[in-house]
Amino acid sequence: MNIIVCIKQVPDTEQLQKVKVDPQTNTLVREGVPGIINPFDENAIEEALRLKEKKGGKVNVLSMGPSQAAESLRKALAMGVDEAVLLSDRLFAGSDTLATSYTLAMAIKRIGPFDLILLGKQAIDGDTAQVGPGLAEWLNLPQITYARKIEVNEDKIRVERVLEDVFEVVESPLPVVVTVTKDINEPRYPSLRGLIRAKAEKISTWTAEDLPLDKRRIGLEGSPTQVIKVFIPKPPRKGDILSGEISQVVDKLILEIEKRSII
Ligand SMILES: Cc1cc2nc3c(=O)[nH]c(=O)nc-3n(C[C@H](O)[C@H](O)[C@H](O)COP(=O)(O)OP(=O)(O)OC[C@H]3O[C@@H](n4cnc5c(N)ncnc54)[C@H](O)[C@@H]3O)c2cc1C
Repeated sequence: MNIIVCIKQVPDTEQLQKVKVDPQTNTLVREGVPGIINPFDENAIEEALRLKEKKGGKVNVLSMGPSQAAESLRKALAMGVDEAVLLSDRLFAGSDTLATSYTLAMAIKRIGPFDLILLGKQAIDGDTAQVGPGLAEWLNLPQITYARKIEVNEDKIRVERVLEDVFEVVESPLPVVVTVTKDINEPRYPSLRGLIRAKAEKISTWTAEDLPLDKRRIGLEGSPTQVIKVFIPKPPRKGDILSGEISQVVDKLILEIEKRSII
């Protein structure tokens, strides 16, 4: 079974103070900020590897981002995936979720036949959870979100979806797009052999020219959601803070309550 996993490199949460916003475009400047694989995407990679171990086939990973996203793809290779593709081009910069899912869909068309596309349920930076469903729409495929368990039998998939206080079982024919939660598995650490292999492995880098895409649908221009302004909200107005001995504080509080006719 051929599986494609979409992974996003996100800023390392311990380095968030280094993330800057471009004052001209109001977009995030991701270059130069240490990155990690979006945690949910590590679960997606793990699930793809487990399915491959059971069913055979091949696992591809795909990421769109600046050149440093190749580090995350290399980690995926070290975990055991077969091939990695990076979509990197200035023309992709500033993509919102619609443009991101479109670009990923066009790259998937170039990768070739597949049975399953796996993604994380959401990215910990953008946090919209829209890319998986968007991708399914562009590819005209069924989608199952928030998976906590996946079983594949012949050409059918059976997925347990996490809902607020219950879970739901959904079946779909293949191919299908599935987004996964943390509950689905515990991602493996890359082995030493995997790390050595990943170092030597080639990562294909594709630009806009390499894809069968409509350039009006990519990057900042192809993104209908535009960030108009980025600002730090003013802290809410604070109330009065009473200080002193506890008995004095209580007396002051009672006076205040009476004065304001609260009781
Ligand atoms: C209103 C709005 C405006 C925005 N405007 C801008 C902007 O102007 N400029 C800008 O830089 N960003 C912008 N963003 C952020 C940008 O949309 C996201 O970085 C990107 O589109 C992915 O969305 P997400 O992070 O919410 O991913 P989610 O939808 O939460 O991600 C779900 C899954 O999709 C996959 N995935 C997501 N992104 C990628 C990727 N790049 N490569 C491979 N797989 C991926 C992963 O498996 C991930 O777990 C904006 C976001 C919003 C909501």
